[in-house]
Amino acid sequence: MDGQAVLGKVDVLTRFPMVILHSNSELDKWLAAADGPVHFVPTMGGLHRGHQQLIRAARGAGVRVLVSVFVNPTQFAAGDDFTTYPRHHDKDAQQAGAAGADAIWFPAVEHVYGDVNPACSHAGSRPPIQPSLIRTLCGPCRPGHFEGVLMVMERLLERVQPALVVMGEKDWQQLAVVRQCLPALRERRCRLLPVPVAREGDGLPHSSRNDRLSPAQRRQAALLPQALRDAEAAVRGGERRAMVLEQLARTRLDAAGLQVDYAQLVDPLTLEPCPHLDGVALLGVGVHVGSVRLLDHSFLLSRKPIIAIDGPAGTGKSTVTRLLAARLGLLHLDTGAMYRAVAWLMLEKQQPVRSGGALQQLLETMELRLAWGDHGQQVIRINGVDVSDAIRFPRITATVPRVAALPEVRQVLTRQQRRFGRQGGLVSEGRDMGTAVFPHAELKVYLTATVAERARRRAADMAQRGQVSPPLATLEAQIAERDHLDCTRTEAPLRPAEDGVMVATDRISVEQVVGELEDLFHQRVSRGAWAMRQH
Ligand code: AMP
Repeated sequence: MDGQAVLGKVDVLTRFPMVILHSNSELDKWLAAADGPVHFVPTMGGLHRGHQQLIRAARGAGVRVLVSVFVNPTQFAAGDDFTTYPRHHDKDAQQAGAAGADAIWFPAVEHVYGDVNPACSHAGSRPPIQPSLIRTLCGPCRPGHFEGVLMVMERLLERVQPALVVMGEKDWQQLAVVRQCLPALRERRCRLLPVPVAREGDGLPHSSRNDRLSPAQRRQAALLPQALRDAEAAVRGGERRAMVLEQLARTRLDAAGLQVDYAQLVDPLTLEPCPHLDGVALLGVGVHVGSVRLLDHSFLLSRKPIIAIDGPAGTGKSTVTRLLAARLGLLHLDTGAMYRAVAWLMLEKQQPVRSGGALQQLLETMELRLAWGDHGQQVIRINGVDVSDAIRFPRITATVPRVAALPEVRQVLTRQQRRFGRQGGLVSEGRDMGTAVFPHAELKVYLTATVAERARRRAADMAQRGQVSPPLATLEAQIAERDHLDCTRTEAPLRPAEDGVMVATDRISVEQVVGELEDLFHQRVSRGAWAMRQH
C-alpha cells in the first residue's frame, strides 16, 4: 500500500481495509491505483452520524468513497472557533471506516493551499457569489465565510476530480452557494448529492459542535428544533406572515436562553426573504449557546408543491411528467387530456368547433372530473362518461388544437386547473402551466430538444408501432412547422416562463431527464423535508 496507513474497518460487511492518506502524493497514488468513479465526502472532521449518513449515501457498486477531513482556515473569521474546532483523527478514521469509506484524507493547510497564505488566496476566475445568496441567514453574521467555503471546495474538487460530491442539507445555505457557484458543479464536471439532516433523539441536528455543549447547554439546544416545530404548527393553524413566524421562533429561542443570530423566512432557492408564505419557504435559525454556534431550519408549506412542465411537442413531456410524478409521490395533471375531453364532447354532440351560444351552453352544463388510479394514472370523466381511452383516438387528436384555441374553453379549463392548484401536490403538464395557470409553481420546467432529435424520436416511435415513417427530412419539416404555429398563435402561444428552467433533452435518456428534474425539485424542497411529508 505504498507506505499508506491502513485501518481495519469496524463494519464487518466491508471486505477491504480503509486507507489513511495525508500528503497530496499519497492521495494521487490512491486515486491512480484503480479505475472507476470516486465519490467524495468533504468534511471538517469531528465525524458523527450525520457524516456517516453522507458516507453511506456515497457508496455504490464499483465506486470508491473518499472522505476528507480539513478544518479550513479561510472559512473562519477572526474570533471564530477555528482553534477550538474538534480534531480527533483516530476517531474520525474509525467513524469513516465504519460507514464504508474506502479512504480518508487528512491534508495539511499547505496540501490544500500550496505555499500561498490562505488568507491572501483569492477567488481566481470564479464569478462572485450572487449577493442574494449571502444577504440572509448566516451571510451577514459570517462575512467572508462562504467565499472561504467555495475556495476550499474548488481546490479539493480540482485535486480529487470526483464524479460525485456528497453534502448535507443541514447546511442549506452552504449547499445552495456551492451548488450555484462552484464551477465544477455548474459546468457539470461533477454531480452533487444532497443528504437529509441526521438528528439526535430530541431532534437537534448532529453537529461536531454539539460535543462542546455542557449538559445544561445541551438541554437548552434541544429547544432549537422545538421552536421550528412551533412555527410549523402555526402554519398548520393558518399563519402565513413571515414576521409573525420569525417572531414566534425568536420568542421561543429567547425564552430558552439561546442567543439568536437570526430567524428568517427565505425562498429555498434564491435565499431571498419571503414576506409571506405562499407555497414553500425555508425558516432558518442560527443561535449561539455560550460560544457554540448552532444552525437548524425547517421547510414550511402552505400547500403541497407544484411543478409545471411545458415545451414543444415531441420533447417527451408526457413520459417525463408521469415518471416524475410517480417518483415524487405527486399527482400527474395532464391538462391536454382536459382539452381532449372537451373535443370528445363536441364531436359526440356533433357541435361545430367555434365560439358562440352553443359552446357557452355546452361549457355551462359540462361536468369534467379528474381522478387518479392506484398507479397514479389520470382518469377523466366528462358528464359521467369515462373518456380516458376514447380521447386518444386520432379524430380527437385532429380536432383538439382547434378546441384549445377557443378562448371560452381555455377560460373554463384554466379556472378548474387553478382550483387543483390550491391544494398543490401536482406535476402539471401542458401549455401555459408556468406562465398563466400556476405562476406560483415551485418549479417551472421547459423541456427542449432540437428538431432533428424530435424527428428521430418520432421515426423510432412509428417504427416501434409497426408504422412506416416518412423520411427524416419530411418529419423535420413537419415538426418545424408545428413549432412555428405553436409559438405564433394568439391564444396561449408556446413560450418558456421567465423564471423557468430550460432542460435540453437531446442525447440524454428519459431516466436522466427525470433525475435532473428531481434534482431541480430538491433544490427547492429538500430531500429530507419531502421524505418526511411522504410518511
Ligand atoms: P462539516 O464537517 O460540519 O463541515 O460537515 C461536512 C458535511 O457534512 C457537510 O456537507 C454538512 O452539511 C454535512 N453534515 C454535517 N452535519 C450533518 C447532519 N447532522 N446531517 C446531515 N449532514 C450533515
